Amino acid sequence: MSYQTEKEIAISAVIQASKLCENVRRNIPPALEKQDKSPVTVADFGSQAIICKALKEAFPDIPIVGEEDATELRQGDSSDTIDKITDYVKEIIPAATTDNVLDWIDYGNGTVTNKFWTLDPIDGTKGFLRQDQYAIALALIEDGEVKLGIMGCPALKLDSEETGYIFVAVRGEGSYKMPLTGNNWTKLQVVSLEDKSRFRFVESVEASHGDQELQNSIAQKVGITTNSVRVDSQAKYGIVASGEAGLYLRLPSPKYPNYRENIWDHAAGSIVVEEAGGKVTDMYGKPLDFATASKMNDNRGVVVTNGLIHDEVISALNS
Ligand code: AMP
Ligand code: MG
Repeated sequence: MSYQTEKEIAISAVIQASKLCENVRRNIPPALEKQDKSPVTVADFGSQAIICKALKEAFPDIPIVGEEDATELRQGDSSDTIDKITDYVKEIIPAATTDNVLDWIDYGNGTVTNKFWTLDPIDGTKGFLRQDQYAIALALIEDGEVKLGIMGCPALKLDSEETGYIFVAVRGEGSYKMPLTGNNWTKLQVVSLEDKSRFRFVESVEASHGDQELQNSIAQKVGITTNSVRVDSQAKYGIVASGEAGLYLRLPSPKYPNYRENIWDHAAGSIVVEEAGGKVTDMYGKPLDFATASKMNDNRGVVVTNGLIHDEVISALNS
């Protein structure tokens, strides 16, 4: 098996980070002020600290391109926030100190090279604050290709009674999911064309992260007549990989035409879908570029399908 050590360390780190995020989420007050982003700040940094520590100890030479860094925390009066982050990290790593935590967060300052990790410690921060979906997304990129993807989705419910899943995919070796509390992996397969009841379409909850009007019209053009399922974070990729939806559209918002997608928002999710038999490109059918920079500057939008309807969706978009 390829990437076996990387896979084991990454799975264990993502499970630990998922625990930290759930510990923070449980303490979000029911009447959280809309502007109060402090829970997500604490969980974001705590999650990044835990994962970066594990990766750096096991693979000191592989850089980590993470969404966060500790610059802001080190400046000004952030000692309360740092203490809170450290307290949550200590629940997982009892010996952690505030200095450790800041250093671990900063391990995520790496740059894109031939082989690197990319990490979104909490993807879907708005979902996290709403007590909806969010994901901890980690991927290993080598020679321009995502080779390994791990996604923790602690609030996700799929086909069973379970809440909380972890997804794992290694290039060429398939995609698997497991309940976060379990120890049995299930192999994933995207939905077939005949399975009409599961052939749904997913999009973001946040209208400003896409073009919902166009997304809905394209879904209808390819024969999906039911309303979209709106879900935060890369959990959408997990839903497509699990065969619970056949299409995920993320088309550029007319409000933000110059927005460029971040690699950590798609790397882990995309390999999970591809290894389950699906396809992921931008809206012109171009492969997503994970090899050049932390932003995918030459891609526009993201189209995720079960593979079979991919060309039809791309033609509908470009006709
Ligand atoms: P989602 O939960 O799928 O809506 O995606 C959350 C991610 O959307 C965040 O991690 C942001 O990086 C990203 N994001 C922020 N603004 C935009 C935008 N205008 N278009 C697309 N994605 C965005
Ligand atoms: Mg994100």
